[in-house]
Amino acid sequence: MESILKNIPSEFKGEIIYREEACRICGHKSGKKISVIDYWDLRTSNLVKCSNCNLAQLDPMITHDETAIGCLAYYVKATLRNTKEKEAKNLLRNFRRGFLFGRSLEKQGIEPKKVLEMGPGSGYFLEGLKFVFPEIEITVMDVNKEVLQFNSEHHGYKPIENILEKPLEHLENQFDLVVARDVIEHVVDIKKVVENIQLYLSDQGLFHFTTPNGHEDLWKHYLTYNQKNKHSELLLNHVNYFDGKGLLDFLKEQAFEPLKYYTYKLKTTRRGRGWKVSEKLMSPVSQKLSSSLYANEKIKDLENFSFIKSEVLKSWYINKSRKMMTYIISSYLHANPIRVSPELNVGHEIYGLFQVNK
Ligand SMILES: [Zn+2]
Repeated sequence: MESILKNIPSEFKGEIIYREEACRICGHKSGKKISVIDYWDLRTSNLVKCSNCNLAQLDPMITHDETAIGCLAYYVKATLRNTKEKEAKNLLRNFRRGFLFGRSLEKQGIEPKKVLEMGPGSGYFLEGLKFVFPEIEITVMDVNKEVLQFNSEHHGYKPIENILEKPLEHLENQFDLVVARDVIEHVVDIKKVVENIQLYLSDQGLFHFTTPNGHEDLWKHYLTYNQKNKHSELLLNHVNYFDGKGLLDFLKEQAFEPLKYYTYKLKTTRRGRGWKVSEKLMSPVSQKLSSSLYANEKIKDLENFSFIKSEVLKSWYINKSRKMMTYIISSYLHANPIRVSPELNVGHEIYGLFQVNK
C-alpha cells in the first residue's frame, strides 16, 4: 500500500529545455518539457514546468488576441452542447456556492463591504454572496463585453471592461474582497494579475480563488505526448498549471497570507488522474480545430438563452426568511468533507482564501 501511495502523484518524466520565454512567475529560463499542445488552429506551444518555481505554462504563451478568439470559439462549442435547463441549473449551483462562501465569512466574523469579481461569468456566485450580505457593493471586471452587459443588466453590478493584467490606478485600495474563481489558470501573465489584486485590495483585504490542481490538469496532456508522442488538444485556455507549494510560495511573496488553502474532490485521484497511465485519461490528440468555424460560423446557431432571476432562484429552500434551510440544503449538496493540503498535488481543485498585508 505504501509503495502505491509513494507514486501518487507520479512524477513527470521529460527533458530539461531552454525555454523561448522566461517563466512568468520567477523569470527562470529552463524547465521540463511535459507536452506539446495545439491551442485550436491558433498556436502550437510546449507545456513547460519551471525548474525553479514548479509553475507549468505554455511556452511560448498565447497572446491576448489568440485568447479572445479561442475563448469565443470554446464558448460557442460548449454552449451548443448545452440546454437551457442545464444552464439554469449551473446558475443555481453557483448561487449556492456563493451563499456558502458568504456564510463561511460570516462565521469568521468577516463582513465585506465592497467586492470585485474578476471573470464573473453568470454573476450568480456574487448573487449568493449578496443573499448573505444584502448591503454589499459589487463591481465586476472582464475583458468580454457580453459578460459585463449580462452582469450589469441582469444583476445591476458595476461593470469594468479591462484586461486583468492591466493595472487601474483609480481602483487602488478600493475593495475589501477580490474574487477570482477559475480565472488564474487562464491569464497570460499571472504575476501581473496578482499584483493588481494586491493593488485593488485595502490592507487586510481578502482574496478568494479556486483553480484546478495543476498536476492533475497537466497529466492528460503529459500522457498524450509521453505515450503517443503526439500533440495534445487544448481548447479551453488553461495556460497556467499550479503546483500546490509553488502557488503558496508565490502568493506569500506577494504579501498574501493563507486563511484557508486546501484541495478537495479526491475522487479524480482515485480514478487515476495524476498518476495512472491509461488511454482513458489522455487528452485527445490535436485535430487543430478551426477556431473561426466556431467563432464566426457556428456562432449563428446559438440560441439566445435569456433567464429570469426569480425563475432561476425559485427553489423552495431559497427564501430570505428561511436562510437556515438555504444553508442546510446548500451544505448538503456541496459539502467537501475531505480536504487535504494542496502541497500534496492530489485532488481536483484548489480553494484559497488569502489576506493581504500591505
Ligand atoms: Zn518559475
